[in-house]
Amino acid sequence: MIKKILDHIRTLPDFDFQGKRAFVRVDFNCPMDRREVADNTRIESTIPTIRYILDRGGKLIIASHLGRPQGYEEEFSIRPVARELGRLLDEEVMVLPFDLSKEDPHTWKASENRILMTENLRFFPGETKGDDNLAAFLAGTADIYINDAFGASHRKHLSVYSLPAYFEERGIGFLVEKELKAFCKVLKDPEKPYTVIMGGSKVSDKIKVLEHLLPVADQFLIGGAMAYTLLKAKGVDVGSSRVEEDRLDTARRILDEAARLNKDFILPVDHCIVKTVDRPGEKIYSRQIETGYMGVDIGPETVRLFSAFIRAARTIVWNGPMGIFEIPDYAVGTNRVAEEVSRSGAYTVVGGGDSVRALRALGVGDEIGHMSTGGGASLKLLEGNGLPGINVLLENP
Ligand code: ADP
Ligand code: MG
Repeated sequence: MIKKILDHIRTLPDFDFQGKRAFVRVDFNCPMDRREVADNTRIESTIPTIRYILDRGGKLIIASHLGRPQGYEEEFSIRPVARELGRLLDEEVMVLPFDLSKEDPHTWKASENRILMTENLRFFPGETKGDDNLAAFLAGTADIYINDAFGASHRKHLSVYSLPAYFEERGIGFLVEKELKAFCKVLKDPEKPYTVIMGGSKVSDKIKVLEHLLPVADQFLIGGAMAYTLLKAKGVDVGSSRVEEDRLDTARRILDEAARLNKDFILPVDHCIVKTVDRPGEKIYSRQIETGYMGVDIGPETVRLFSAFIRAARTIVWNGPMGIFEIPDYAVGTNRVAEEVSRSGAYTVVGGGDSVRALRALGVGDEIGHMSTGGGASLKLLEGNGLPGINVLLENP
């Protein structure tokens, strides 16, 4: 699937931007602090696409969502984001009015302004529910459609899913291209040994990813809360650890399938345990989880066990932290695994919002092959079905 996508999609060099305006969907859903951009990583990561179009004589209209406003809410205005973009580009970025009813899209398309931005897409109910008028307006503002919003491409929202059909010319930006290439590398002909590291909160979120990767990868190293559902399914006592009781059957199915395929499916052998999460000072490391205790991180023996696989790996996919890493006392396992991963010679792709956050906090991001900018989208890709917002861009699929 993923190889087919890369073969059948148009990338920036396939377009002539001279004298045209491109509608560029981006994911500028940045962390905000008192209505200022607190972390501009998402904006920075699309600068190559924006610069490329400008340098080739094109103009842009950029659109993004920001937060989860219910209709128009002034505090979710895209203006601070537009200001930050303008600062990074050293260009004026003009924001369109929120009320489009009196606006003529063609006037905006022909405008002298090189960079326009729509207001927060989530201000328009049609973005999530669908709205032909909104789509027609947005389509009227530009000649070429470019999706550079990897993190939004798993959603069937208007700006990524139905809008592209209004354009004869459509394709992807450099950020989406980079993401797709990285996932292609780990989904199609990956170098072996191939290790998948999975953690995080729920088996249910990641079951399809596990199912898709089971036949492809060699080893599976499982931590985080999802390990406790799997351990319980094996009959191991997990005390009051977080378990998805309604997924025990699914967990058993995965374990059976891994055994049938002869895969190394490694669950934690020791744990950091506490009586309550908010008493990190009372943590102990143990192989057993006594009644009344819960597992909040993998233990040192598990780290050693995992490390041996990580050191030998040539390809690694990592999704989900090994413990409740937001609390420093429970971040030891995640940090140790991160160090091992960054030191290994394997090509590594990290997906998942929290996993990427954990790695960035440690400062080891630069040694990682690819840190995905889309949590949900990266999981969807690893499930093997492509992404709705990308699949609609395929030429003669
Ligand atoms: P990602 O965003 O990388 O895909 P998830 O969202 O699936 O990861 O999981 C991250 C969350 O899982 C974190 O908030 C973390 O606190 C939680 N978590 C990890 N291990 C445990 C555990 N043992 N018990 C409870 N929660 C856990
Ligand atoms: Mg998450």
